[in-house]
Amino acid sequence: MKTFKVSISDIKDKIGDEKEISAASDLGKTTFMGNEINIGKTNITGVARNVGKSIELAASVDSNLVLECGRCLESFQHPMKLKLKELFYFDNEESEYNVEDDSIDVERTIIESIALNLDIKTLCKIDCKGVCPNCGINLNKASCECQKRDIDIRFNKLQKLKTRLQKSDKKNQKNSKE
Ligand SMILES: [Zn+2]
Ligand SMILES: [Zn+2]
Repeated sequence: MKTFKVSISDIKDKIGDEKEISAASDLGKTTFMGNEINIGKTNITGVARNVGKSIELAASVDSNLVLECGRCLESFQHPMKLKLKELFYFDNEESEYNVEDDSIDVERTIIESIALNLDIKTLCKIDCKGVCPNCGINLNKASCECQKRDIDIRFNKLQKLKTRLQKSDKKNQKNSKE
């Protein structure tokens, strides 16, 4: 079930009439402005009210997003609660949201509100260690030898340089004696 349609047939005739609404659905993966977001299970509860030319929806949205960490690329759950307010017009070709077949489809307004509340770069946790640029291991789960090896290589080079300098020192000493 991927619809978030809420019937408003019982409040469409009288200005001021209102009804409580509640709906739940798994929105799953969806694309918003070129970005794929996985919205997952989402609940919406609120009040729809006839305000004349439109139905005004004021609701709380509760969803459980699945996002990809911008640093380690693992997916993680990200619960999000937000409030939204939207007008659904009865007869307005220019409006983005309209009443259709005596119901309002709240899915798109939910997706938009969530997307607007989403940080551009999300992290699975504030101190995510990311992945090793060398071997690609997830440094939150394991450690690798890359950094240690780097140090070893640098140390070895230093050692060689030292012996070379010592040798040439001796040679210089020999030369000065002669
Ligand atoms: Zn991460
Ligand atoms: Zn590594």
